[in-house]
Amino acid sequence: MGIENELVGFLESSIKDGANKSRDIEIVKFYYGLNESPWPTLEETASRFGVGTRERIRQLLNSKFRDNVSKSSIPSINDFLEILQSREYWLISEFEEEIYDSEIIEKESQLKGIFNLIDDINLNHGYEFYTPELKRATRNSIATSKNIFLIRKANVKNIEKLFKKAQGLPGRYGIANLTYIKEELGQYYSLVSFLIESSPTSWVRVVGDEYWYIFENKDNTIINYSEKVFSVIEHCDSSRLAETFRNALDRRAYKYPYPPTEIVEEYLRSSVYMVNTGSGLKFIGETTKLNEIEEALLSFFNSSGSVSFPELDKYFTEQGYGRPHILKTTNFSPLVHVDKTKGRRSYVYSLVGYRISEEDGSSDTDAYELYLHRLRALLDGGTDETREQTARKEQHILQEWLFKDKTHECCSVCGQEFSVKTLVTAHKKARSDCNDAERLDPHIVMPVCLMGCDYLYENMYIFIDGNEIKRGLPFPNAKAESKFIEDLVGRTVESQWLLGSKSYFRSPNKALQRSSR
Ligand SMILES: [Zn+2]
Repeated sequence: MGIENELVGFLESSIKDGANKSRDIEIVKFYYGLNESPWPTLEETASRFGVGTRERIRQLLNSKFRDNVSKSSIPSINDFLEILQSREYWLISEFEEEIYDSEIIEKESQLKGIFNLIDDINLNHGYEFYTPELKRATRNSIATSKNIFLIRKANVKNIEKLFKKAQGLPGRYGIANLTYIKEELGQYYSLVSFLIESSPTSWVRVVGDEYWYIFENKDNTIINYSEKVFSVIEHCDSSRLAETFRNALDRRAYKYPYPPTEIVEEYLRSSVYMVNTGSGLKFIGETTKLNEIEEALLSFFNSSGSVSFPELDKYFTEQGYGRPHILKTTNFSPLVHVDKTKGRRSYVYSLVGYRISEEDGSSDTDAYELYLHRLRALLDGGTDETREQTARKEQHILQEWLFKDKTHECCSVCGQEFSVKTLVTAHKKARSDCNDAERLDPHIVMPVCLMGCDYLYENMYIFIDGNEIKRGLPFPNAKAESKFIEDLVGRTVESQWLLGSKSYFRSPNKALQRSSR
């Protein structure tokens, strides 16, 4: 039967015939989610139907529905609850899929309204809508985020505790593997992994069963290393930097293994604090000072390139440093690359990257780097600004990046040249799906025309795979649209719009899966 039919049937028989009967039925249906509003409220219902205030709607709901309904009036609610309560938590989209498949509600119906209905029938469901920060979802959060969860209220405290633990794990490891605490997380493992991924400040790499992650806004050994190293280094090869950091981590053994060098490198290459330039990685965070022995090390390397341990040992011993101090500064320093290929007795030590040169005033910063800097500066724009203000600034910079001083530009999808007025700054991947590093990368956008490409790309009727435009989601009963799509499929996208991470381009099948950065 389905909730909608049962509700309408109930209202038809319980509301007395009269001039307002069909309107009243529509009002009740609207408030209980049988409409397109994702989070119907009394106010919204009142303004939608032009019926006075929220108070008027409340009275109307009472007299037409709440006062007459009983727990058995809408039997499908029980099927709804049975599915809901079969799991401790749901990602909204997963629950919707389940509930649509069972035909308990129509695809156009909205969950929040159905929950209003359940509450008003005085059935206890025990669940609540939560954001990825485990805050109660609001009307606004549901509109701006796809990742909303239904979680059994009684479990939220426990999940919060587990999530906190997972958030703290990367600190000393640099990059942690969530499987380290898999047993402790138990049935919440996948929920917690989802919460991590949904955080804009997280970086996640899933390799097989391994789940590596770091929170870029939290105190972390790898970020601390970068802050130190880049106070004296201008740029550095990414694999050399990763090798050096990985080596430095080994100074102290912890309960769980450290991340492999490849993961450290992947992280460094896509960190929100790094710029990937032709000459290597540059750091754009705040730097910290070296300590005394590190300063000494640096001046030693100023006069000699690659050295052996006895040379370093002699130099430091003469300056009065003790053995443990020397070992720590040479063998396990984020500043020192140790080449171990020639065996234990012939390690070669050198400074990890290229020194900042003082005389070189001319900057080789290109436009990309410049815009990246401007975008990343929004990260620490203080707390006075609202999220919307920052988003507007961000959009403005991205727009400039694509269109500054131009009157015309080619659409990246169809390739035709348009006036810039006809082009939009389109995100390759939805902004709400981006973490901070992706969101604040100029390569996340491309120019797309409003003559059709924007619409087709946005709705995934087409997508970009490799360098080619491919057919995306089916568009049934659409003759004219199909012709547009036909013309685009197979086109090669210009290489300048393919820069940045490959993961920026989503395929429709992938979009249905969990995002993995
Ligand atoms: Zn176009």
